Amino acid sequence: MNQDNLIYEKSRPGRIGIALSDTDSPADAIDRLIPKQFLRPQPAQLPEVSESALMRHYVELSVRNHHIDKGFYPLGSCTMKYNPKINDVAASLPGFSRLHPMVPDNQAQGALRLMYDLAAMLSEITGFAGATLQPVAGAHCELTGLLIIRAALLKRGNFRKKIIIPDSAHGTNPASVILSGFDVAQVRSNENGTISADEVARVADENTAGIMITNPNTLGLFEPEIEAIAKIIHDVGGLLYMDGANLNALMGQAKPAEMGFDMVHFNLHKTLSTPHGGGGPGAGALAVTEELLPFLPSPVVGKKGDDFFLDNDRPDSIGRMHSFYGNFGNMVRAYTYISHLGPKGIKAVSENAVLNANYLMSLLKGTYSLPHDTVCQHEFVLSGEWQKKKGVRTSDIAKRLLDFGVHAPTVYFPLVVNEAIMIEPTETESRETLDRFAEIMIQIDREIDENPEMVKSAPHTTPVRRLDEVRATKELNICYRPNIEA
Ligand SMILES: *Cc1c(COP(=O)(O)O)cnc(C)c1O
Repeated sequence: MNQDNLIYEKSRPGRIGIALSDTDSPADAIDRLIPKQFLRPQPAQLPEVSESALMRHYVELSVRNHHIDKGFYPLGSCTMKYNPKINDVAASLPGFSRLHPMVPDNQAQGALRLMYDLAAMLSEITGFAGATLQPVAGAHCELTGLLIIRAALLKRGNFRKKIIIPDSAHGTNPASVILSGFDVAQVRSNENGTISADEVARVADENTAGIMITNPNTLGLFEPEIEAIAKIIHDVGGLLYMDGANLNALMGQAKPAEMGFDMVHFNLHKTLSTPHGGGGPGAGALAVTEELLPFLPSPVVGKKGDDFFLDNDRPDSIGRMHSFYGNFGNMVRAYTYISHLGPKGIKAVSENAVLNANYLMSLLKGTYSLPHDTVCQHEFVLSGEWQKKKGVRTSDIAKRLLDFGVHAPTVYFPLVVNEAIMIEPTETESRETLDRFAEIMIQIDREIDENPEMVKSAPHTTPVRRLDEVRATKELNICYRPNIEA
Protein backbone atom coordinates (compact mmCIF):
# COMPACT_ATOMS: atom_id res chain seq x y z
CA MET A 1 0.00 0.00 0.00
CA ASN A 2 2.62 2.48 1.10
CA GLN A 3 5.49 2.71 -1.36
CA ASP A 4 7.88 4.17 1.21
CA ASN A 5 9.90 1.31 2.63
CA LEU A 6 12.43 2.89 4.89
CA ILE A 7 11.35 4.56 8.06
CA TYR A 8 13.38 7.58 6.86
CA GLU A 9 11.14 7.82 3.80
CA LYS A 10 8.10 7.87 6.08
CA SER A 11 9.56 10.73 8.10
CA ARG A 12 7.79 14.14 7.98
CA PRO A 13 9.37 17.18 9.70
CA GLY A 14 7.79 17.88 13.08
CA ARG A 15 5.78 14.66 13.30
CA ILE A 16 6.18 13.10 16.72
CA GLY A 17 5.39 9.73 18.30
CA ILE A 18 5.48 10.56 21.98
CA ALA A 19 3.77 13.09 24.24
CA LEU A 20 5.94 14.55 26.95
CA SER A 21 4.59 17.08 29.43
CA ASP A 22 6.16 20.53 29.52
CA THR A 23 9.13 21.00 31.78
CA ASP A 24 10.63 24.10 33.29
CA SER A 25 14.22 22.92 32.64
CA PRO A 26 15.91 24.80 29.82
CA ALA A 27 16.28 22.73 26.63
CA ASP A 28 20.06 22.86 26.72
CA ALA A 29 20.36 21.87 30.41
CA ILE A 30 21.65 18.39 29.60
CA ASP A 31 23.92 19.61 26.83
CA ARG A 32 25.68 21.81 29.32
CA LEU A 33 26.49 18.79 31.52
CA ILE A 34 28.14 16.84 28.69
CA PRO A 35 31.73 17.70 27.72
CA LYS A 36 31.80 19.48 24.38
CA GLN A 37 33.83 16.85 22.54
CA PHE A 38 31.05 14.31 23.13
CA LEU A 39 28.30 16.49 21.65
CA ARG A 40 27.21 16.17 18.02
CA PRO A 41 27.92 19.21 15.87
CA GLN A 42 24.49 18.70 14.27
CA PRO A 43 21.37 17.01 15.64
CA ALA A 44 21.12 13.28 14.76
CA GLN A 45 19.15 12.60 11.58
CA LEU A 46 16.31 10.69 13.22
CA PRO A 47 13.07 9.82 11.46
CA GLU A 48 10.05 11.83 12.59
CA VAL A 49 6.93 9.65 12.60
CA SER A 50 3.76 9.17 14.63
CA GLU A 51 3.42 6.24 17.01
CA SER A 52 0.93 4.50 14.72
CA ALA A 53 3.22 4.87 11.68
CA LEU A 54 6.09 3.48 13.71
CA MET A 55 4.05 0.49 14.90
CA ARG A 56 2.79 -0.30 11.39
CA HIS A 57 6.28 0.00 9.97
CA TYR A 58 7.69 -2.67 12.26
CA VAL A 59 4.66 -4.96 12.14
CA GLU A 60 4.77 -4.79 8.34
CA LEU A 61 8.47 -5.66 8.34
CA SER A 62 7.84 -8.57 10.71
CA VAL A 63 5.31 -10.19 8.37
CA ARG A 64 7.47 -9.82 5.25
CA ASN A 65 9.88 -12.34 6.66
CA HIS A 66 9.07 -15.85 7.80
CA HIS A 67 9.22 -16.65 11.51
CA ILE A 68 8.00 -19.28 13.93
CA ASP A 69 5.16 -17.09 15.25
CA LYS A 70 3.86 -16.79 11.68
CA GLY A 71 4.07 -20.28 10.26
CA PHE A 72 5.50 -23.78 10.06
CA TYR A 73 9.30 -23.87 10.02
CA PRO A 74 10.51 -27.48 9.52
CA LEU A 75 14.20 -26.57 9.20
CA GLY A 76 16.01 -29.84 9.94
CA SER A 77 18.66 -29.86 12.67
CA CYS A 78 17.57 -26.36 13.78
CA THR A 79 14.64 -27.38 16.02
CA MET A 80 12.44 -24.42 15.16
CA LYS A 81 9.88 -25.15 17.86
CA TYR A 82 7.38 -22.59 19.06
CA ASN A 83 8.85 -20.46 21.87
CA PRO A 84 6.26 -20.11 24.65
CA LYS A 85 5.70 -16.44 25.56
CA ILE A 86 5.84 -17.22 29.28
CA ASN A 87 9.62 -17.54 28.75
CA ASP A 88 9.78 -13.91 27.64
CA VAL A 89 7.60 -12.77 30.53
CA ALA A 90 10.08 -14.34 32.96
CA ALA A 91 13.12 -12.94 31.13
CA SER A 92 11.56 -9.45 31.22
CA LEU A 93 11.07 -9.40 35.00
CA PRO A 94 12.99 -6.31 36.12
CA GLY A 95 14.95 -8.28 38.73
CA PHE A 96 16.49 -10.20 35.82
CA SER A 97 16.44 -7.78 32.92
CA ARG A 98 17.73 -4.77 34.84
CA LEU A 99 20.32 -6.56 36.95
CA HIS A 100 23.77 -5.14 36.25
CA PRO A 101 26.31 -7.88 35.52
CA MET A 102 28.83 -6.30 37.89
CA VAL A 103 26.72 -6.16 41.05
CA PRO A 104 28.27 -8.06 43.96
CA ASP A 105 27.16 -11.67 44.44
CA ASN A 106 25.06 -10.85 47.49
CA GLN A 107 22.85 -8.58 45.37
CA ALA A 108 22.37 -11.15 42.61
CA GLN A 109 21.34 -14.21 44.61
CA GLY A 110 18.22 -14.87 42.53
CA ALA A 111 20.08 -14.78 39.22
CA LEU A 112 22.92 -16.89 40.57
CA ARG A 113 20.49 -19.43 41.96
CA LEU A 114 18.74 -19.64 38.59
CA MET A 115 22.07 -20.35 36.88
CA TYR A 116 23.01 -22.90 39.54
CA ASP A 117 19.66 -24.69 39.27
CA LEU A 118 19.63 -24.59 35.46
CA ALA A 119 23.10 -26.17 35.31
CA ALA A 120 21.81 -28.87 37.69
CA MET A 121 18.72 -29.50 35.53
CA LEU A 122 20.81 -29.83 32.37
CA SER A 123 23.20 -32.18 34.17
CA GLU A 124 20.23 -34.29 35.31
CA ILE A 125 18.78 -34.46 31.76
CA THR A 126 22.12 -35.64 30.32
CA GLY A 127 23.48 -37.66 33.28
CA PHE A 128 26.57 -35.49 33.79
CA ALA A 129 28.22 -34.03 36.91
CA GLY A 130 28.02 -30.33 36.07
CA ALA A 131 27.66 -27.76 33.30
CA THR A 132 28.84 -24.38 32.11
CA LEU A 133 26.29 -21.93 30.71
CA GLN A 134 28.86 -19.48 29.38
CA PRO A 135 29.08 -20.36 25.64
CA VAL A 136 26.65 -18.51 23.41
CA ALA A 137 26.09 -21.04 20.62
CA GLY A 138 26.40 -24.70 19.77
CA ALA A 139 29.61 -24.07 17.84
CA HIS A 140 30.93 -22.07 20.79
CA CYS A 141 30.27 -25.11 23.04
CA GLU A 142 32.20 -27.27 20.57
CA LEU A 143 35.18 -24.95 20.85
CA THR A 144 34.85 -24.94 24.65
CA GLY A 145 34.61 -28.75 24.76
CA LEU A 146 37.63 -29.20 22.51
CA LEU A 147 39.68 -26.83 24.66
CA ILE A 148 38.61 -28.90 27.68
CA ILE A 149 39.74 -32.10 25.90
CA ARG A 150 43.05 -30.39 25.20
CA ALA A 151 43.43 -29.30 28.84
CA ALA A 152 42.49 -32.75 30.16
CA LEU A 153 44.98 -34.50 27.86
CA LEU A 154 47.73 -32.06 28.81
CA LYS A 155 46.95 -32.67 32.50
CA ARG A 156 47.26 -36.41 31.91
CA GLY A 157 50.59 -35.65 30.24
CA ASN A 158 49.47 -37.32 27.05
CA PHE A 159 48.52 -34.75 24.42
CA ARG A 160 47.47 -35.83 20.92
CA LYS A 161 46.01 -34.12 17.87
CA LYS A 162 43.43 -36.29 16.11
CA ILE A 163 39.68 -35.77 16.49
CA ILE A 164 37.46 -38.28 14.64
CA ILE A 165 34.33 -36.94 12.94
CA PRO A 166 31.74 -38.82 10.86
CA ASP A 167 30.98 -37.66 7.31
CA SER A 168 27.39 -36.79 8.30
CA ALA A 169 28.59 -34.15 10.80
CA HIS A 170 27.35 -30.57 10.95
CA GLY A 171 29.85 -28.18 9.36
CA THR A 172 30.61 -26.51 12.67
CA ASN A 173 32.21 -29.74 13.98
CA PRO A 174 35.27 -29.82 11.69
CA ALA A 175 35.48 -26.02 11.84
CA SER A 176 35.70 -26.10 15.65
CA VAL A 177 38.29 -28.87 15.50
CA ILE A 178 40.53 -26.79 13.24
CA LEU A 179 39.94 -23.61 15.25
CA SER A 180 41.06 -25.32 18.46
CA GLY A 181 44.27 -26.62 16.89
CA PHE A 182 43.36 -30.28 16.40
CA ASP A 183 43.32 -32.29 13.17
CA VAL A 184 40.21 -33.88 11.64
CA ALA A 185 40.07 -37.59 10.80
CA GLN A 186 36.89 -38.54 8.98
CA VAL A 187 34.96 -41.80 9.34
CA ARG A 188 32.45 -42.77 6.67
CA SER A 189 28.88 -43.69 7.54
CA ASN A 190 27.84 -47.25 6.69
CA GLU A 191 24.96 -48.16 4.35
CA ASN A 192 22.49 -47.65 7.24
CA GLY A 193 23.61 -44.04 7.62
CA THR A 194 25.25 -44.67 11.01
CA ILE A 195 28.83 -45.30 12.18
CA SER A 196 30.28 -48.78 12.61
CA ALA A 197 32.49 -49.48 15.60
CA ASP A 198 34.78 -51.40 13.21
CA GLU A 199 35.31 -48.28 11.13
CA VAL A 200 36.12 -46.24 14.26
CA ALA A 201 38.55 -48.95 15.42
CA ARG A 202 40.34 -48.67 12.08
CA VAL A 203 40.92 -44.91 12.55
CA ALA A 204 41.44 -44.74 16.34
CA ASP A 205 45.03 -44.99 17.60
CA GLU A 206 47.40 -43.61 20.24
CA ASN A 207 47.30 -40.25 18.42
CA THR A 208 43.51 -39.92 18.92
CA ALA A 209 42.42 -37.10 21.22
CA GLY A 210 38.74 -37.87 20.86
CA ILE A 211 35.66 -38.24 18.70
CA MET A 212 32.81 -35.81 18.06
CA ILE A 213 29.45 -37.44 17.33
CA THR A 214 25.95 -36.09 16.87
CA ASN A 215 23.44 -38.53 18.34
CA PRO A 216 20.86 -39.00 16.96
CA ASN A 217 22.92 -38.13 13.90
CA THR A 218 22.00 -35.58 11.26
CA LEU A 219 20.01 -38.22 9.37
CA GLY A 220 17.77 -38.44 12.44
CA LEU A 221 19.10 -41.92 13.26
CA PHE A 222 20.27 -43.12 16.66
CA GLU A 223 23.83 -44.50 16.65
CA PRO A 224 23.29 -48.16 17.65
CA GLU A 225 26.98 -48.94 18.20
CA ILE A 226 27.68 -45.99 20.45
CA GLU A 227 28.70 -48.03 23.50
CA ALA A 228 31.23 -50.06 21.51
CA ILE A 229 32.55 -46.83 19.94
CA ALA A 230 32.93 -45.26 23.40
CA LYS A 231 34.95 -48.26 24.56
CA ILE A 232 37.28 -48.07 21.55
CA ILE A 233 37.93 -44.35 22.08
CA HIS A 234 38.45 -44.67 25.85
CA ASP A 235 40.75 -47.66 25.36
CA VAL A 236 43.11 -45.56 23.23
CA GLY A 237 42.98 -42.76 25.82
CA GLY A 238 40.64 -40.37 23.95
CA LEU A 239 37.48 -38.54 25.02
CA LEU A 240 33.97 -38.46 23.52
CA TYR A 241 32.20 -35.21 22.66
CA MET A 242 28.49 -35.41 21.85
CA ASP A 243 27.08 -32.67 19.66
CA GLY A 244 23.73 -32.38 21.44
CA ALA A 245 21.98 -30.07 19.01
CA ASN A 246 19.59 -32.97 18.48
CA LEU A 247 18.73 -33.53 22.15
CA ASN A 248 15.09 -32.86 21.32
CA ALA A 249 14.81 -36.59 20.56
CA LEU A 250 16.45 -37.78 23.76
CA MET A 251 15.25 -35.71 26.71
CA GLY A 252 13.79 -37.95 29.40
CA GLN A 253 14.56 -41.01 27.25
CA ALA A 254 18.31 -41.64 27.27
CA LYS A 255 21.31 -39.95 28.88
CA PRO A 256 24.46 -39.26 26.87
CA ALA A 257 26.61 -39.91 29.98
CA GLU A 258 25.26 -43.47 30.09
CA MET A 259 26.12 -44.01 26.42
CA GLY A 260 29.79 -43.40 27.27
CA PHE A 261 30.16 -39.73 26.29
CA ASP A 262 32.38 -37.43 28.36
CA MET A 263 30.51 -34.26 27.52
CA VAL A 264 27.50 -32.99 25.59
CA HIS A 265 26.30 -29.58 24.55
CA PHE A 266 22.80 -28.16 24.56
CA ASN A 267 21.57 -25.52 22.20
CA LEU A 268 19.25 -23.64 24.55
CA HIS A 269 18.05 -21.82 21.43
CA LYS A 270 16.94 -25.07 19.83
CA THR A 271 15.95 -27.72 22.35
CA LEU A 272 14.96 -25.40 25.19
CA SER A 273 12.75 -23.02 23.21
CA THR A 274 14.64 -19.75 23.23
CA PRO A 275 14.19 -17.70 20.05
CA HIS A 276 16.72 -18.00 17.22
CA GLY A 277 17.04 -17.73 13.48
CA GLY A 278 16.97 -13.96 13.34
CA GLY A 279 14.88 -13.96 16.52
CA GLY A 280 17.53 -13.51 19.15
CA PRO A 281 20.98 -14.46 20.43
CA GLY A 282 21.96 -18.09 20.93
CA ALA A 283 23.01 -19.78 24.10
CA GLY A 284 24.83 -23.01 24.72
CA ALA A 285 25.47 -25.15 27.73
CA LEU A 286 28.14 -27.79 28.03
CA ALA A 287 27.69 -30.63 30.52
CA VAL A 288 30.70 -32.77 31.49
CA THR A 289 31.81 -35.73 33.63
CA GLU A 290 33.19 -35.38 37.15
CA GLU A 291 36.76 -35.71 35.79
CA LEU A 292 36.32 -32.71 33.49
CA LEU A 293 34.61 -30.33 35.97
CA PRO A 294 37.86 -28.53 36.97
CA PHE A 295 38.45 -27.51 33.34
CA LEU A 296 35.09 -25.76 32.79
CA PRO A 297 35.31 -22.06 31.92
CA SER A 298 35.38 -19.64 34.85
CA PRO A 299 33.46 -18.46 36.67
CA VAL A 300 31.02 -21.23 37.61
CA VAL A 301 28.26 -20.63 40.12
CA GLY A 302 29.06 -22.25 43.46
CA LYS A 303 27.00 -22.68 46.63
CA LYS A 304 28.22 -22.23 50.21
CA GLY A 305 25.55 -22.90 52.83
CA ASP A 306 22.51 -21.06 51.45
CA ASP A 307 24.56 -18.55 49.46
CA PHE A 308 25.41 -18.63 45.79
CA PHE A 309 28.66 -17.16 44.54
CA LEU A 310 30.74 -16.83 41.37
CA ASP A 311 33.68 -19.16 41.72
CA ASN A 312 36.76 -17.82 39.98
CA ASP A 313 39.27 -19.75 42.04
CA ARG A 314 39.69 -22.65 39.63
CA PRO A 315 43.34 -23.17 38.66
CA ASP A 316 42.68 -25.83 35.98
CA SER A 317 39.94 -23.87 34.19
CA ILE A 318 40.43 -23.23 30.48
CA GLY A 319 39.56 -19.58 31.30
CA ARG A 320 36.81 -17.36 30.07
CA MET A 321 34.83 -18.14 26.89
CA HIS A 322 32.59 -15.05 26.96
CA SER A 323 32.19 -11.74 28.72
CA PHE A 324 30.28 -11.97 32.01
CA TYR A 325 28.20 -15.19 32.10
CA GLY A 326 26.98 -15.65 28.52
CA ASN A 327 23.46 -14.76 27.36
CA PHE A 328 21.64 -14.65 30.67
CA GLY A 329 18.19 -13.84 29.23
CA ASN A 330 18.22 -17.15 27.38
CA MET A 331 19.05 -18.98 30.60
CA VAL A 332 15.93 -17.50 32.20
CA ARG A 333 13.89 -18.66 29.20
CA ALA A 334 15.31 -22.19 29.28
CA TYR A 335 14.82 -22.40 33.04
CA THR A 336 11.20 -21.28 32.68
CA TYR A 337 10.59 -23.79 29.92
CA ILE A 338 12.01 -26.75 31.86
CA SER A 339 10.35 -25.81 35.14
CA HIS A 340 6.92 -25.30 33.70
CA LEU A 341 7.04 -28.60 31.79
CA GLY A 342 8.55 -30.63 34.65
CA PRO A 343 10.09 -34.10 34.18
CA LYS A 344 6.92 -35.57 32.64
CA GLY A 345 6.53 -32.68 30.23
CA ILE A 346 10.16 -32.84 29.14
CA LYS A 347 9.76 -36.55 28.42
CA ALA A 348 6.59 -35.83 26.45
CA VAL A 349 8.49 -33.23 24.36
CA SER A 350 10.82 -35.85 22.93
CA GLU A 351 8.08 -38.46 22.53
CA ASN A 352 5.96 -36.04 20.52
CA ALA A 353 8.92 -34.73 18.52
CA VAL A 354 9.74 -38.29 17.44
CA LEU A 355 6.08 -39.15 16.80
CA ASN A 356 5.58 -36.05 14.63
CA ALA A 357 8.68 -36.80 12.57
CA ASN A 358 7.69 -40.41 11.96
CA TYR A 359 4.12 -39.41 11.08
CA LEU A 360 5.28 -36.86 8.54
CA MET A 361 7.87 -39.26 7.13
CA SER A 362 5.18 -41.87 6.53
CA LEU A 363 3.01 -39.32 4.68
CA LEU A 364 5.83 -38.27 2.33
CA LYS A 365 7.77 -41.44 1.69
CA GLY A 366 5.98 -42.66 -1.44
CA THR A 367 6.23 -39.26 -3.12
CA TYR A 368 9.85 -38.44 -2.27
CA SER A 369 12.75 -40.86 -2.09
CA LEU A 370 13.64 -41.89 1.47
CA PRO A 371 17.21 -43.26 1.38
CA HIS A 372 17.15 -44.54 4.99
CA ASP A 373 13.72 -46.08 5.34
CA THR A 374 13.58 -46.91 9.03
CA VAL A 375 12.03 -45.48 12.19
CA CYS A 376 13.54 -42.02 12.68
CA GLN A 377 14.13 -39.89 15.75
CA HIS A 378 13.17 -36.20 15.77
CA GLU A 379 13.89 -35.62 12.05
CA PHE A 380 14.29 -37.45 8.75
CA VAL A 381 16.03 -36.85 5.46
CA LEU A 382 14.31 -37.24 2.10
CA SER A 383 16.04 -36.98 -1.26
CA GLY A 384 14.79 -34.93 -4.20
CA GLU A 385 16.54 -37.34 -6.62
CA TRP A 386 13.28 -38.54 -8.28
CA GLN A 387 12.22 -34.93 -8.89
CA LYS A 388 15.69 -34.02 -10.14
CA LYS A 389 15.38 -36.68 -12.85
CA LYS A 390 12.39 -34.67 -14.11
CA GLY A 391 14.54 -31.53 -14.28
CA VAL A 392 13.54 -29.82 -11.03
CA ARG A 393 16.12 -29.30 -8.34
CA THR A 394 15.63 -29.55 -4.57
CA SER A 395 16.35 -25.83 -4.30
CA ASP A 396 13.36 -25.20 -6.64
CA ILE A 397 11.11 -27.25 -4.36
CA ALA A 398 12.39 -25.29 -1.37
CA LYS A 399 11.60 -21.98 -3.11
CA ARG A 400 8.13 -23.17 -4.15
CA LEU A 401 7.28 -24.03 -0.51
CA LEU A 402 7.67 -20.34 0.36
CA ASP A 403 4.63 -19.56 -1.82
CA PHE A 404 2.53 -21.61 0.59
CA GLY A 405 3.69 -19.68 3.65
CA VAL A 406 5.95 -22.49 4.86
CA HIS A 407 9.64 -22.15 5.56
CA ALA A 408 11.67 -24.63 3.51
CA PRO A 409 13.31 -27.59 5.23
CA THR A 410 17.11 -27.71 5.42
CA VAL A 411 18.33 -28.64 1.93
CA TYR A 412 21.60 -30.10 0.59
CA PHE A 413 22.55 -31.15 4.13
CA PRO A 414 23.63 -33.64 5.39
CA LEU A 415 26.15 -34.04 2.59
CA VAL A 416 25.85 -37.85 2.66
CA VAL A 417 22.42 -37.65 0.94
CA ASN A 418 22.03 -36.39 -2.64
CA GLU A 419 19.54 -33.54 -3.04
CA ALA A 420 18.89 -33.81 0.72
CA ILE A 421 15.63 -32.47 2.17
CA MET A 422 15.98 -32.56 5.95
CA ILE A 423 12.71 -32.18 7.82
CA GLU A 424 12.27 -31.58 11.55
CA PRO A 425 8.66 -30.79 12.44
CA THR A 426 9.21 -30.55 16.28
CA GLU A 427 6.65 -31.42 18.92
CA THR A 428 4.89 -28.06 18.89
CA GLU A 429 3.05 -28.64 15.58
CA SER A 430 -0.46 -30.02 15.38
CA ARG A 431 -1.55 -32.95 13.24
CA GLU A 432 -3.43 -30.47 10.99
CA THR A 433 -0.20 -28.56 10.29
CA LEU A 434 1.67 -31.77 9.47
CA ASP A 435 -1.16 -32.96 7.18
CA ARG A 436 -1.23 -29.59 5.41
CA PHE A 437 2.55 -29.60 4.90
CA ALA A 438 2.41 -33.12 3.45
CA GLU A 439 -0.39 -32.01 1.08
CA ILE A 440 1.73 -29.08 -0.10
CA MET A 441 4.79 -31.27 -0.68
CA ILE A 442 2.65 -33.74 -2.65
CA GLN A 443 1.08 -30.91 -4.65
CA ILE A 444 4.54 -29.59 -5.57
CA ASP A 445 5.50 -33.05 -6.79
CA ARG A 446 2.35 -33.05 -8.95
CA GLU A 447 3.21 -29.61 -10.33
CA ILE A 448 6.61 -30.96 -11.37
CA ASP A 449 4.74 -33.29 -13.78
CA GLU A 450 2.06 -30.84 -14.86
CA ASN A 451 3.66 -27.40 -14.78
CA PRO A 452 7.37 -27.60 -13.91
CA GLU A 453 7.96 -23.91 -14.78
CA MET A 454 5.75 -22.98 -11.82
CA VAL A 455 8.21 -24.68 -9.51
CA LYS A 456 11.37 -23.65 -11.34
CA SER A 457 10.47 -19.97 -11.23
CA ALA A 458 9.21 -19.95 -7.64
CA PRO A 459 8.77 -18.12 -5.34
CA HIS A 460 5.96 -16.02 -6.78
CA THR A 461 4.38 -14.45 -3.68
CA THR A 462 7.29 -13.38 -1.49
CA PRO A 463 8.45 -9.72 -1.15
CA VAL A 464 11.63 -10.61 -3.05
CA ARG A 465 12.00 -13.38 -5.63
CA ARG A 466 15.20 -15.32 -6.32
CA LEU A 467 18.16 -13.45 -5.01
CA ASP A 468 21.74 -13.89 -6.00
CA GLU A 469 22.41 -15.71 -2.74
CA VAL A 470 26.17 -15.35 -2.84
CA ARG A 471 25.96 -11.62 -3.51
CA ALA A 472 23.23 -11.23 -0.90
CA THR A 473 25.52 -12.56 1.83
CA LYS A 474 28.59 -10.66 0.63
CA GLU A 475 26.89 -7.33 -0.05
CA LEU A 476 24.14 -7.06 2.51
CA ASN A 477 21.66 -4.47 1.29
CA ILE A 478 18.67 -4.17 3.55
CA CYS A 479 17.25 -1.20 1.64
CA TYR A 480 15.55 -3.42 -0.92
CA ARG A 481 12.38 -2.61 -2.85
CA PRO A 482 9.64 -5.23 -2.86
CA ASN A 483 9.06 -7.22 -6.04
CA ILE A 484 12.17 -6.01 -7.79
CA GLU A 485 14.56 -8.69 -8.95
CA ALA A 486 18.02 -8.37 -7.48
C1 LIG B 1 22.76 -26.05 15.04
C2 LIG B 1 23.78 -27.11 15.10
C3 LIG B 1 25.09 -26.82 15.50
C4 LIG B 1 25.61 -25.43 15.75
O1 LIG B 1 24.89 -24.68 16.67
P1 LIG B 1 24.96 -23.08 16.60
O2 LIG B 1 24.26 -22.63 17.84
O3 LIG B 1 24.28 -22.69 15.34
O4 LIG B 1 26.41 -22.71 16.61
C5 LIG B 1 25.97 -27.87 15.60
N1 LIG B 1 25.61 -29.13 15.30
C6 LIG B 1 24.36 -29.44 14.90
C7 LIG B 1 24.01 -30.88 14.59
C8 LIG B 1 23.39 -28.44 14.79
O5 LIG B 1 22.17 -28.73 14.36
